[in-house]
Amino acid sequence: MLVAFAAFGATGAIASKYQGWFALLPIVSFLGFGAAMLYQLFGVRCGRCRAAIGRALNGTGYLFSVPADFRFCPYCGTDLDTDINIVQQT
Ligand SMILES: [Zn+2]
Repeated sequence: MLVAFAAFGATGAIASKYQGWFALLPIVSFLGFGAAMLYQLFGVRCGRCRAAIGRALNGTGYLFSVPADFRFCPYCGTDLDTDINIVQQT
């Protein structure tokens, strides 16, 4: 998501300098940023309960990283550093 956000800014600068098809570059990179945002919201899931924990991550205020104190699933309490095979066996 950070890469798409940086690409959005860079392609915006390129598009403002050049004409023609370069004007479409910010739109494409903005769609990439939007897709990354949607993936963060709905694609990041807990390994145990499959809840969408990306929404909880968004609430922390860190859009581009996971804060160090976000260690447990807010829905089932599973330690997010636990190996996924161990989680599935329990
Ligand atoms: Zn969970």
